[in-house]
Amino acid sequence: MEYEDRYQHVPKPKYDCLLFDVDDTLYPLHSGLSDQVTKNIIEYMNTKLGIPEDKVPEMCVRLYKEYGTTMAGLRAIGYNFDYDDYHSFVHGRLPYEILKPDPVLKSLLQSLPIRKVIFSNANEEHVETVLGRLGLEDCFEGVICFETLNPINKTDAPDNKDNANLKGSKLSTDFIEKFCATSQVLPKTPVVCKPFEYAFEQAFKIAKINPQRTLFFDDSIRNLQTGKGMGLHTIWVGSSHRTKDVDYALESIHNMREALPELWEAIETMEEVHYSEMVAMETPVKA
Ligand SMILES: [Mg+2]
Repeated sequence: MEYEDRYQHVPKPKYDCLLFDVDDTLYPLHSGLSDQVTKNIIEYMNTKLGIPEDKVPEMCVRLYKEYGTTMAGLRAIGYNFDYDDYHSFVHGRLPYEILKPDPVLKSLLQSLPIRKVIFSNANEEHVETVLGRLGLEDCFEGVICFETLNPINKTDAPDNKDNANLKGSKLSTDFIEKFCATSQVLPKTPVVCKPFEYAFEQAFKIAKINPQRTLFFDDSIRNLQTGKGMGLHTIWVGSSHRTKDVDYALESIHNMREALPELWEAIETMEEVHYSEMVAMETPVKA
């Protein structure tokens, strides 16, 4: 009976999972890696897809904003290309050496005995390389990335009737002019990625995540908005502005202990309770 009472007093931590984006979240925007990604995407759109140079920057920004990734947007409006080719052009040529090991973040993550999962729109090789450069390769239980959400054997041809006239690897200049000039209703993308709800549903299912007990770290406000709507507790990394969709805002991931002391306090309380239980069990009772 006494043991049962004691057991019932062990506080259940509020969170049992930490879900992390990678790019511009685990390392800062000012590292310059994202600028290089954008440069490579622009070059891909111009040289591989034949989109006129003067239209590329505007299209790139608009597609990224509408679809979460430029790649998802390009596929939505009818460009067909090989995903691996895209990823090796955009990510495969990045100057990863600009990312340095981050022992501060590593020790913060390792000090929390809560499961940690990566949720990124990027391809697996990119995620692994970034984690390796930061020295965080052993800090996560699982990785949800492009390949997880877009398995190779999945048919990726858009079946939307609106897309029927857009198939082919190159679109007409007329279409591109129209796309840039109007705010037409945009076709759906066949790519599964944040910030769309379906990507979150899949991630929760694959990684067995209960959103109500999970903290979600991301630098994209759109991803956080969807995440919040789906029950996640949200942390905007790289910003000091809280909004209604954001529970916490951190200038840097390094500030997580100051912003979320309850994570460490919950662990300390659990350890204290566990210690007092051990002492109680090991102390001989004198009759
Ligand atoms: Mg990001």
